[in-house]
Amino acid sequence: MASLAQALENSNNWFANGEFFTKLSSLVNIVSDSKNSVSVEDLTSYYADGLSDILEELGLQTEIIDNPIKNGPPFLIGTRLESSQLNTILLYGHGDTVPLQEGQWFEGIIPNELKIIDDKIYGRGVADNKGQHLINLLALLSVLKIRKKLGFNLKIIFEMGEEIGSPGLFDLCEQYKDYFESDVLIASDGPRVAINVPTIFLGSRGAINFELEAKYREGAHHSGNWGGVLRDPGVRLSHALSVITDKYGKILIENWKPTSLTEEVRHRLKSLPTTISETLEIDENWGEPGLSSNEKLFGWNSFSILALKSGNIDVPVNAIQPSAKALCQLRFVVGTDSNKVISYLRGHLDHHGFKDIEIITEDAINFEASRTNLNNIWLEKVEHILEKFHGDKIHVIPNLAGSLPNNCFTDILGIPTIWIPHSYKECSQHAPNEHVPIKLLRNSLLLMTDLYWNLGKDV
Ligand SMILES: [Zn+2]
Repeated sequence: MASLAQALENSNNWFANGEFFTKLSSLVNIVSDSKNSVSVEDLTSYYADGLSDILEELGLQTEIIDNPIKNGPPFLIGTRLESSQLNTILLYGHGDTVPLQEGQWFEGIIPNELKIIDDKIYGRGVADNKGQHLINLLALLSVLKIRKKLGFNLKIIFEMGEEIGSPGLFDLCEQYKDYFESDVLIASDGPRVAINVPTIFLGSRGAINFELEAKYREGAHHSGNWGGVLRDPGVRLSHALSVITDKYGKILIENWKPTSLTEEVRHRLKSLPTTISETLEIDENWGEPGLSSNEKLFGWNSFSILALKSGNIDVPVNAIQPSAKALCQLRFVVGTDSNKVISYLRGHLDHHGFKDIEIITEDAINFEASRTNLNNIWLEKVEHILEKFHGDKIHVIPNLAGSLPNNCFTDILGIPTIWIPHSYKECSQHAPNEHVPIKLLRNSLLLMTDLYWNLGKDV
């Protein structure tokens, strides 16, 4: 008689016999930096050389679909239909990564080669997202091997462009809406709230990037000859920035504030640990006054200056610069009028006398905010299974503080989205030394095996 214990043992064996490491290693060996990819073919090889054997073992009928957007990397989609009477779970993952950042990692680490140091596995993509979707695929495989069926239908979407804003994913979901028809998305990305407690998040914050520029003339002008009679773009831009937030980061544009921090959301956020990080000290007085750190992070919007430039700070000259530029970002939760963020900013700057500051939005990478309701039946079901496995309360947050193309699933496919992250905040995602502790990977694989087993058990 097939049992959950056997499926868990099968998953445990992936670790004991080193197969998990070997498989993850083969995925990390495939360089899939979507920002600097030489060709779309390079990215596509992740499907054929990386995932195809597991997908075949899972009995998925897969196909590679050209990106609806020109020069965008192709998608891998697939289905495994067991019965029209069963629920259908959609799995998403992204095989692309941020740049390798070679030479900036701990000594002896080559980013596209796995290395274990102090019970942590290092390598580009280990946390974001190769390790995470590998866990889900192997957990599914364990259930299938033991039970000979999943007990639900499975559909998959893989992309190779998440790190460059998921080009074409929106259109793909539109075009293949019927193909992807499912009951729920269960996927993994991002970090847990706390390393030892499973986390569920139900969506993501969005992000809008834009540039602010003060550009007055061609070329710099000697400050001895012109200082006092020429507008200084650095000074003007600094003042313009100062009306967007106050000196403590509180947003000053009224229409940029969200309307979604409800009592229900606050209640869920109250059950999270109040310490945001063990390793990084939080600036308590930063951001919206009166909110807890968790409310600021998961329930509110934040404005950042990502880069700032006027003149050349390495080789300064005594001159009034011709221009100054700031690359800015608004991270926002649902309940923010995202289509009007830029026009609200324009109005605000104009109102404060900054008509000369231009807002540039070309080439901006934007993500929409989205989330599934906290009173969703799938949340209840999955939360219950994870809590039983964990033996205690787990962490449920309305959305990730970061961004994901989650709105493709909630808004276009119209399905609830349950994200179960298999990494932790200190994983150095998007930075040198990306890693995940082996213990966390192993725990996540068992957790997902248990979840998939239980979701398919009533067959
Ligand atoms: Zn990422």
